[in-house]
Amino acid sequence: MRIGRFDVQIFSDGVFKPDGGSMFGVVPKALWEKQKPADDRNRVAMDMNCLLIRDADNVVVVETGAGAKLPAKQREIFGIETPRLLDELAERGVRPDEVTLVVNTHLHFDHAGGNTYRDGERLVATFPRASYVFQRTEWEDAMAPNERTQGSYARDDYAPLEATGRLELVDESVEILPGIRLDRVQGHTRGTQTVRVSAGRETLFFSSDFMPDRHHLPLPWIPAFDLYPLDTLAAKKAILARAVSERWIVAFTHDLPRFGRVSEQDGRYRFEELAS
Ligand SMILES: [Zn+2]
Repeated sequence: MRIGRFDVQIFSDGVFKPDGGSMFGVVPKALWEKQKPADDRNRVAMDMNCLLIRDADNVVVVETGAGAKLPAKQREIFGIETPRLLDELAERGVRPDEVTLVVNTHLHFDHAGGNTYRDGERLVATFPRASYVFQRTEWEDAMAPNERTQGSYARDDYAPLEATGRLELVDESVEILPGIRLDRVQGHTRGTQTVRVSAGRETLFFSSDFMPDRHHLPLPWIPAFDLYPLDTLAAKKAILARAVSERWIVAFTHDLPRFGRVSEQDGRYRFEELAS
């Protein structure tokens, strides 16, 4: 996908299988199951999508998937496969030391897991020359999780980055490069951020988990994971209206890895995939 001077690609780090009830919140299974069939353990298969955004001078990776550090028990519960991140980058001609910026929409294990890897006893940044960009509020909450949030965070994914001096904490809305904007959207967590790549009138929007896939387009379909569900609701109303009226190209964190456009008819939103 071309957006001005940027080449933008989307790929999946692999599939993971969260609980379907957690994924769809107050929506009864009788409804969500028709959209997203569950396995015999009530799990639904979701991709863990990453973006690769490149221009002549910059190589930006958004999300790093689940990585390889999770304990076997957690991998089994969530059905996490071998991470594909580095293979997908290699297929696109990108070596880890060529990446200049890493953005995580938030620091949950399925988005930040590939930030670091274990080298013997040491935890090392996967992308040694990159700055890692997170919202300050997300960093604060991830460094001090509570009983409700601690299962979603794995400290080894982000804490070791502080010592490398490559941590870049941002506040609210920020243009990290001309044409690439991050916006804090409280809902899924306090410090979740979305990504917009813009050139002229063209905007590509990466949702973050306040709207993980196309099945979350209906306004009340909000994951039980969300810490601030009514803020998610307000953000969906505001952002979906803009996505429709400004004809944004939309990609989701946990849908199939693809781009599309959102349309609205009689209050119902629909996603239509774009031919790549
Ligand atoms: Zn997620």
